[in-house]
Amino acid sequence: MKSSLLEHSPAHYLSNSISTCSIDNELESEESMLSANKAELTKDQQLVHALKDSETRYALATQITHDGLWDWDLSSNQIYFSSRWKSMIGCQEQEIKNNPVEWLVRVHLTDIDKLKSNLSACWRGEISRFEMEYSLLHQDGEYRLMHCQCVAAMDGDGLVSRLIGSQTDITERKKIEYQLNYEADHDKLTNLPNRQLFIQQLKELSQLEHNSNYMFGVLFLDLDCFKNINKNFGHSIGDRLLVEIVHKLQSCLRSRDTVARLGSDEFAILLAGFTDTSFPSEVACRIQQEFSLPIPVENHSILMTISIGIAFNHSSSDIQTHNTSYNLIESLQNAEIAMHQAKAEGKACNVIFQRSSYLQHIEKSKSENDLREAIEQEQFELYYQPIVKLVDHSLVGFEALIRWQHPVKGLIAPADFITLAENTGLIVPIGWWVLRSACQQMATWQQEYPNSNSLFISINISSQQFSQPYAGHIIAQILGETGLNPRCLKLEITESEIMENIDVVLNSVTKLKNLGVQLSLDDFGTGYSSLSYLHCLPIDNLKIDRSFVQNIESDRSKLELVKTIIKLAEVFELDLIAEGIETQQQCTQLLDLQCKYGQGYLFSKPVPLITATILINTDN
Ligand code: C2E
Ligand code: MG
Ligand code: MG
Repeated sequence: MKSSLLEHSPAHYLSNSISTCSIDNELESEESMLSANKAELTKDQQLVHALKDSETRYALATQITHDGLWDWDLSSNQIYFSSRWKSMIGCQEQEIKNNPVEWLVRVHLTDIDKLKSNLSACWRGEISRFEMEYSLLHQDGEYRLMHCQCVAAMDGDGLVSRLIGSQTDITERKKIEYQLNYEADHDKLTNLPNRQLFIQQLKELSQLEHNSNYMFGVLFLDLDCFKNINKNFGHSIGDRLLVEIVHKLQSCLRSRDTVARLGSDEFAILLAGFTDTSFPSEVACRIQQEFSLPIPVENHSILMTISIGIAFNHSSSDIQTHNTSYNLIESLQNAEIAMHQAKAEGKACNVIFQRSSYLQHIEKSKSENDLREAIEQEQFELYYQPIVKLVDHSLVGFEALIRWQHPVKGLIAPADFITLAENTGLIVPIGWWVLRSACQQMATWQQEYPNSNSLFISINISSQQFSQPYAGHIIAQILGETGLNPRCLKLEITESEIMENIDVVLNSVTKLKNLGVQLSLDDFGTGYSSLSYLHCLPIDNLKIDRSFVQNIESDRSKLELVKTIIKLAEVFELDLIAEGIETQQQCTQLLDLQCKYGQGYLFSKPVPLITATILINTDN
C-alpha cells in the first residue's frame, strides 16, 4: 500500500520527469532550489532531496485540503483516492479499492456520460483539463453534488499518462444558492412563482419553436375588493385566505399548468397545450364556480369573488392569430386588459381579450396622457354662463364651466373628458384649478366693476374633491387667497355624488356653510331624489335639470314633475334655478310656477371671459 502510494505520488512524476499543467510552477521552484545546492550534492542526492520534499508537501496538502483527491495511472488503470475522497461519500479507507469503477459506478446516471466523455477527451490529449459537477452516491443512499477538477499529466514523450484531480462537496453551497434563488423568484406566503419568474417562464416558452396548432392561454386574475378583507379581518386572516385561495386555484388546474402570484391580490395562470379553444374559458368558469362557496378561515366564512381576463393564441379576434411564434408576455398584458374590462363589467366575471378592447385601451391611455399633459400645461379655459332673474332677465351670477383647449383637437366640451377625469382621479386637480380660477376671476370682476359685488359664481365640485380629507380647508384657503367673499360662492354638487359619499360630503359642507358658502344641488331630479338628504344637508338651492324644463310647454307629466319640485323647494325653503331654458314660453311657464331664477340659451350660452365681462358691464 505504502509503495503504491509512493508510486502514485507527484514525486513519482518528478523522478520520471513527467510534467503536468498544474505542477509546472512547483517544478520550476523545485528546480531552482536544486540548482542552488548543485555544487555540494551529486545528481542522485539532488533527486532524493527533491523527492522527499515533494512527498512531504504532497502528504501535507492531502491532509489539509478539504477536497478529495484522486490520481489515475492510465497504464496500470489503478486509481488512488485520498482518505478525504473516500470519507466524502461515507466510506472508510479499506472500503474503496484502487479501481476507477469504484468512482464511476457511484456517479449519477444523468452525469456519467458527460464525465466519461470528459475523461476520455483528457486521456486522448484533446483537452488538458476540465471541470464539471456531478452527483455521487453516498453510503447513506443519498447523492452528494461534487465539483470535480481534472488535469492531464504527460510523460516525457508528451503522452498522457495520468489523470489527476480533486473533488469538492458543493451540496450545501448549492442548497443555499438554490434557496436564495428560490426566495428571489417565489412568493414567500404562497410559495408560488412571483411575477419575475412567471415572466421569465413566459419568455422562455415564447422562444421555443412550437407547432402553430399548439395552444397557449394566459389567465389574469384579480380578487374583487380584497383590500376590504385586510381592513375588516386583519392581515393575518387576509394572508391565510390567500393561501386557501391558491389551493382552490390549483384544484382547478392540471399539473402542467402554472399559477403565479403577481402582486398582492393578483394571480396569473399559464395554460400550455390544449386542443379546444374553449378550454381557457372553461378553466375560468371552473375557478369562478369554485369561488361561489364561502372559504373557511379560522372561525370566519369568507365569500370572495374574482375577476378574470383571458388571452390565448387561437382567439379569433386576437391580434396575433396568424403569428406562429406567440408572444406570451403580450398575452399576459392582454389578459390584464381583459381583466380590467371584467372589473368594469361589474366584477366576478371573466372576459376574453378582444382586439377592439385592446384598441379602446390604447385610446384611453392616450387620452389619459393627453389629459395629464393638459393639467401640466394648463390647457383649460373657463366659460361663464349667466344665471338670471326670470322676471327681468337681470344677471345674478354665473356658472363657471370648463373647456379644454386641446392643441390638436381644438375646444373640447366637458362631456367629452369629465368622465375620463373622474375615472382616473384627475378630476381632483382639475376641479381645484377650476375653483381657484373662477374665484380669482369673480374677485377681479368685483374689484373692477362694483356693480358685480352682488353677483355670485357657481362652480361644479366633484364628489372626489369632497372626499379629500382637507376639502373644506382647501376651499377656505382658496377663498382666503383670492379674497372672494364666501357669500358670493355657490358650490354645485349632484345628487348621485352626495349619495355615494354622504358622510364625507356632510363633514366638508358643514365647515363651508359656517364660512357662508352656499350649496346647490345640481341636475335635481335625475338622481336618487331622496328626500332624506334634503333634510340633513344644508342645501340653499335646487337646480332643476334641463330634461324637466325641455318640452315643459307640451309635456304634462314634465309640468307636473316641475310643479312637485317647486313645492318641495318651498317646503324646504330652497331657492330654485331652472336649467336649460331655451324658449320664452318655458320661461313664462316657470315664472307662473313661482320659479325665480334660471339659466339657458334663451338668455345666453356659456361665454368666454371677454364676453362675460361685457355682460357685467352692460347689466344694470
Ligand atoms: P351642468 O353643471 O349641469 O352645466 C350645465 C350644462 O348645461 C352646461 O353644459 C351648459 O352649457 C348646458 N346648458 C345650459 N343651458 C342650456 C340650454 O339652454 N340648452 C342646452 N342644450 N344646454 C344648456 P356644459 O358646459 O357642456 O357642461 C356639462 C356638464 O359638465 C356640466 O353640467 C357639469 O356637470 C360638467 N362640468 C362642467 N364644468 C365642470 C367643472 O368645472 N367641474 C366638474 N366637476 N364638472 C363640470
Ligand atoms: Mg352645474
Ligand atoms: Mg346641471
